[in-house]
Amino acid sequence: MLKGIPSFLKRPGKTIRQLLNSDGSPKSNSKPYELRIVSRDEHPISRSGISENALKVLYRLKKANYDAFLVGGCVRDALLDLHPKDFDVATNATPEQVKSLFHNARIIGRRFRIVHVRYGREIIEVTTFRAPPAEDTAKAHSSQSEHGLLVRDNVYGTIEEDALRRDFTINALYYNIRDFSIYDYADGIEDINHRCIRMIGDPATRYREDPVRMLRAIRFAAKLDFNIAPETAEPIRPMAELLRQIPAARLFEEVLKLFLSGQSAATFQLLKEYQLLQELFPYTSEQLSLAPEKEHFILQALENTDRRIAEDKPVTPAFLFAALLWPVIQNAFRELMEEGIPPVPAMQQAGQQTLFAQSDFTSIPKRFSQPMREIWEFQLRLERRQGKRAFQTAEHPRFRAAYDFLVLRSESGEDVQALADWWTRFQDTDGSGRKNLLQNTGDDDQAPRKRKRRPRYRNRKRSSSS
Ligand code: ATP
Ligand code: MG
Repeated sequence: MLKGIPSFLKRPGKTIRQLLNSDGSPKSNSKPYELRIVSRDEHPISRSGISENALKVLYRLKKANYDAFLVGGCVRDALLDLHPKDFDVATNATPEQVKSLFHNARIIGRRFRIVHVRYGREIIEVTTFRAPPAEDTAKAHSSQSEHGLLVRDNVYGTIEEDALRRDFTINALYYNIRDFSIYDYADGIEDINHRCIRMIGDPATRYREDPVRMLRAIRFAAKLDFNIAPETAEPIRPMAELLRQIPAARLFEEVLKLFLSGQSAATFQLLKEYQLLQELFPYTSEQLSLAPEKEHFILQALENTDRRIAEDKPVTPAFLFAALLWPVIQNAFRELMEEGIPPVPAMQQAGQQTLFAQSDFTSIPKRFSQPMREIWEFQLRLERRQGKRAFQTAEHPRFRAAYDFLVLRSESGEDVQALADWWTRFQDTDGSGRKNLLQNTGDDDQAPRKRKRRPRYRNRKRSSSS
């Protein structure tokens, strides 16, 4: 039983009616659901835990005589006593009707048309109830590709339909602003109670409609420390390669959510277990199967990230991605060096090649790929510490991330401990301490380079003056 689960969750609530298709068959392929309404005094969600802006939106919709509910992750998280990160609203008002009620609203989205109501930095997302994908594609504005992939989905529906087209039972909970009750359409409260991620409807069909749901199952299992129900888990491995149908840009967004959930180490293990890592990071996955000990470095990076998130410190996705691809970089770097390419260009090429190859799977926007490259290239620069170099290096904007990366490498068993310790001491000391350190770099590759460079400079001068 989940720690701190309020007792109301054990009570069934009031059954209103069974959800049936017009021919009388159950709505779900695998299980008929019943709507349960949990009244205000039977659940712990209070308005004080809800964003004021979300409440404003809900009240305005209600005042205009529309239905208005909080829905999805915010209801689930509030029931679990977690802080919802955003608040989503569902309504029977169309996007145009919603927009006309708010001066700060904008209709966005092609795949789904939704309304963003903006209050400073907070955006309240308002969605019109949607129907499940229509079987008769000619009739509806929704269509499926030949693989069953849902490509457009803009059919408005009833709240029941809206609930049953959501992914997991725990995500189909609605908080009604009219009487502050919770509408539970798919036994989501029972699944919260049993700490269970369960797909609504037939899991294989739902994964075929949208393969990203496989990643979402993993994300919620890791984030909430829930189990995935056996029938929901079972199709994931055989269907994992359907993720190849998903555009790299959408996968990038999903990967960010997966690794910024605060449980990225657990997420990584689940991705491996369900054979999804190889769809997202095939080159990393390949390197890890050749050299499993390299996983240690990635796990360290992920655990650090999770710790930072727990402490409310900022995390840089570039660092995370740089770590996830480090085994690939190391391999490419080694191969390029073996071809006789000197270290600096070899590292540059390794970065370019790796980013190019990875971008087929998850795109990586430039604002992340550029710092990633710098972190990798800096690993060589950190080895050079003679003269003014160490000072210049330490002042470089990318130094901190590159140094943290070096420390991680050292902690995970790469042979760079002396170097990492040196840089730690360099930052902890000043004045004469730094001078001493500079005399003890163990860097003996500098002298020959100096000798080489000077004659070249003199030669050039001589020839230009002659
Ligand atoms: P988070 O805490 O990450 O925001 P969330 O459950 O709110 O979790 P969102 O991605 O914000 O997740 O989506 C909001 C809601 O929309 C979900 O709770 C779910 O009901 C529905 N939803 C989102 N993505 C899908 C999907 N791919 N298929 C079906 N329903 C989805
Ligand atoms: Mg959400």
